Amino acid sequence: MKQITVNIKLVQGDITEQNVDCIVNAANKELRGGKGVCGAIYKAAGRDELQAETTPLGPISTGSAVMSSAQNLTTYGLVGDKHGIKGIVHAVGPIYQDGLHGEVELLASAYRNSLILARQYGYKSIAFPCISTGVYGFPAALAAKIAVTTVVEYLLQNPGLTVVFVAFESDDFILLETALHNTKQYGQLFVDTGKLSAFNIDCEQKQSLDKMLDDAGLQPLQNQQTDFRGVFSAEFKKVITDISDPFSEI
Ligand code: ADP
Repeated sequence: MKQITVNIKLVQGDITEQNVDCIVNAANKELRGGKGVCGAIYKAAGRDELQAETTPLGPISTGSAVMSSAQNLTTYGLVGDKHGIKGIVHAVGPIYQDGLHGEVELLASAYRNSLILARQYGYKSIAFPCISTGVYGFPAALAAKIAVTTVVEYLLQNPGLTVVFVAFESDDFILLETALHNTKQYGQLFVDTGKLSAFNIDCEQKQSLDKMLDDAGLQPLQNQQTDFRGVFSAEFKKVITDISDPFSEI
């Protein structure tokens, strides 16, 4: 029997403040600094310096990714932290139209290509935002499901990287947490509940989240009641018994 441990963390916060080797930017094809998470990353890294570095790297196609340095983010972050962020992966997710334009596969590619790049650069940890779920309009529950399954499947085949999902909004945290709990087919899920944090989601919000989860084919969690207490920082480890078939059930 061989065990594969897959390390995935889920946090709510700002991606520019994560203590990881590289962070992923939800980029546009031209690699222009924009709004949303892209704006936050360019601002923290140094807009002009980062733009001067990324412009010659573009344009790139939807679903692909390129690596840049982290500019000022290398020294940004926790006081006294000398390790900082080393690289920024610029990954282009699809603009969601109707789901009939290859959006699912293109979003999975954006995640997969980011993981491949991080590995090529020898990075040990990578943080993802919820790619395409902002102005690109991807349904958030479906995007969470694609993010989680793509990452878990990649890590089972290529262990060693720690992946941090960074949810900026509490809704995205709940959707990602639910998607992680829905991955039982890949092995046993261990949850280190970390710090607990209360998300005050009301009935209406819960109903709308449940509807989104249902549309994405995900089972809502039992404990997501109106007084739901979310896991603020969780570690997910998958252990499988048969390495020859990482997707087999145990
Ligand atoms: P896209 O164009 O790919 O849709 P957006 O930047 O509009 O990208 O949104 C992607 C996601 O990033 C959204 O879920 C949004 O809440 C989230 N986001 C915005 N700012 C940050 C940040 N500083 N850190 C992490 N995630 C963020």
